[in-house]
Amino acid sequence: MDFKVDLSNCDREPIHIPGKVQAHAVLIGIDYKTQLITHVSDNVAKFFSCNPEQLLNQPFRVFLSLSGIDTREVNFLSLLPDQFVEGFEKENAWIVPTNGGRFHLVAHLSGPTVIVELEPAKEEDGREVQNIVGSLLSRILAAKSFQDTLDFSAQQIKNIIGYDRVMIYRFAEDGHGEVVAEKVNDEIESYLGLHYPASDIPKQARELYKKNLVRIIADVDATDAAIEVNNSITQATPLDMTDAVTRAVSPIHIQYLKNMGVKASFSVSLIADGELWGLIACHNYEPLLIDYRKRNSCRIIGQILSTSLIFRQEEVDNEQKAKFNTHLGNIIKHIRSDIDFKDALMQHGNSMLDITKGTGAALMFDNDIFMIGETPTQEQIRGIAAWLGEFNKNQFFQTTQLADLYPAASSFKDVASGLMSVAISREMKEYIFWFKKELPQTVRWAGNPNKPAEMGANGLLQISPRKSFEEWTEKVQGKSEGWQAHEISSVMQLREELVHIINERANQVRKLNEQLKQAYEELDTFSFTISHDLKTPLSSIKNYAELLIEEENLGNEHKPMLQKIVKGADRMNLLIREVLSYSRIGRLQMTVAPINMGQMLDEIRTELLNVYNSKPVRLTISNPVNIIGDYTMIYQVFTNIIGNAVKYSSAAEIPEVTVETQAGISEVTYIISDNGIGIDMKNGDQIFDLFKRMNNASPFEGTGVGLAIVKRIIEKHNARIWYESEPGNGTVFYLIFKTV
Ligand code: ADP
Repeated sequence: MDFKVDLSNCDREPIHIPGKVQAHAVLIGIDYKTQLITHVSDNVAKFFSCNPEQLLNQPFRVFLSLSGIDTREVNFLSLLPDQFVEGFEKENAWIVPTNGGRFHLVAHLSGPTVIVELEPAKEEDGREVQNIVGSLLSRILAAKSFQDTLDFSAQQIKNIIGYDRVMIYRFAEDGHGEVVAEKVNDEIESYLGLHYPASDIPKQARELYKKNLVRIIADVDATDAAIEVNNSITQATPLDMTDAVTRAVSPIHIQYLKNMGVKASFSVSLIADGELWGLIACHNYEPLLIDYRKRNSCRIIGQILSTSLIFRQEEVDNEQKAKFNTHLGNIIKHIRSDIDFKDALMQHGNSMLDITKGTGAALMFDNDIFMIGETPTQEQIRGIAAWLGEFNKNQFFQTTQLADLYPAASSFKDVASGLMSVAISREMKEYIFWFKKELPQTVRWAGNPNKPAEMGANGLLQISPRKSFEEWTEKVQGKSEGWQAHEISSVMQLREELVHIINERANQVRKLNEQLKQAYEELDTFSFTISHDLKTPLSSIKNYAELLIEEENLGNEHKPMLQKIVKGADRMNLLIREVLSYSRIGRLQMTVAPINMGQMLDEIRTELLNVYNSKPVRLTISNPVNIIGDYTMIYQVFTNIIGNAVKYSSAAEIPEVTVETQAGISEVTYIISDNGIGIDMKNGDQIFDLFKRMNNASPFEGTGVGLAIVKRIIEKHNARIWYESEPGNGTVFYLIFKTV
């Protein structure tokens, strides 16, 4: 069997045109234009000495005289149609003496028809109700809490109507309802805290609850009275009884009440901001009519409660909003006072967790994750960020059922069924997340919401309300409490502030960078100019010293001094040359192109072997791999590195220098090893500093500029350099270059 029937079928039941009226009331329809009776409920003879045949097609006054109503008591037929404004008849019910006793008479206009409803009136003191309403008002204003107001209202309604059970029923966003307040006779089981599935009150019934603020079903077992019609006038359209207070009730609803053992039911709608917030639902286990005036009093209580719902809810919201705002203010203050904003967001008692009702929060920033409260693991949070980057292109996102959208979240739904996120930077995958726990797993459903359909006696599957009202436990999985508007607004404010601060700081860094670059360039120009200007006086010094050495009149004892001057000038020249070449790198335009490394290394080799021609150096180059770079600069790099290797191994018995390669996918590592004096690795990267020479290097000539040049060129090429060494045991330099 594959039937799909559920109570949403009730959504289509035409309950506003039942063609019937409840047994306790008489309905008479009058055509407004002709003032002739067009509709009469067939129970009229039960209350008055007349029957439908005598009335249909007759002027209304025929009914008035047959029922013994004084025509002066009811003058509504003289009203113009637009005077039958909504509510008119309800505020102005007439109590009329008839030959069948006192009746409430209410009239309203439905299309071309004036609908008159008559219900028996009970003796009562009108002042009593006024008192109740007055005291309710002051109680509502003084109530300690929202719950207090609800409880008190339920009690007042119970006092007025005398039913066995009065519940206040609140609808959740998904349409299901919960009993949030209840006054019930001692011997009856309480329904407080029970949840009812949304299908219990079909959609169009909800619409009617918004229009008819009170609704009575005086006796579920009584047979409704059919409305007889004067066919000559109204054949075509059924009488619209939307606003008729005694309209017959849907058989499905009657069955529903019967299943609960209820004999009479009464409801008052609670409306907040134009929406059905809930109902005051009242049950009696015996038939019991509440007369029109009492019902009206209950309606007023409902309206007072409805108004208070709005301001009470606002009060609760405002209190919370104020709390969030204080925390937000403190966080922002900390951020502005230059505290690292990670710390500002995580400060205990004033953290990002305190600006929402979230149960956990996480900040993803600078590739780090900072967490507070109950959260998924770091890895799970990274998973969420990766998914969110694809799934949601906005800066803001929220859900109360994360696992429905992102199935991987089902493994941590207990801590994060609810997710709200703001992106600080989507590109950098920088987010702040707030999590909300899964709602308590068990809800006390009053019946099984998944089984609304029943097999009928005739063997067909038919829609019928649930028969079982025993408590049913339904697991409501993977769902969190909703995210409120003020929670959303506080995280948006925080985001704005963060983005502002981050931009401000980024601008500062950018500015500093600019200044640094400028200073660097100035320094370069300065050293270039100085070195350049030194060259001319230096060559004069050298030239004159050399001339003096040649001078025969000068005593021999002075010549070594002059030779020192010449040597010093030479060394200074070398230094100046090196500094010039170092500063030149800063200003040189790079021309990047593939370089034939085999050829370049051969040239360098020849050049070096010429310099050290007196020494038996073994310099081997294997598998040169072409790289991408500026020819002159790369030439300088290898000359320096290989030159150093040869120089610092020259004291070895047989200096051995090898140049090898290791090719990667898009890069190559050049490995230059020697068997020279080695470097103490404690000195780290100091060897790359300008003019820095190691102690063991002093016997060898040098300026300490070469590796500084190398470093600068390597940086310009986005290449990498490092070394491994041990004093006395040779050195290995590694250089990685791009090959494509
Ligand atoms: P220098 O002109 O002194 O060779 P560099 O800048 O080329 O200057 O090198 C800086 C220092 O690093 C050297 O003075 C030396 O102490 C050390 N160094 C560089 N290469 C080697 C090497 N292959 N073996 C041992 N020490 C080295």
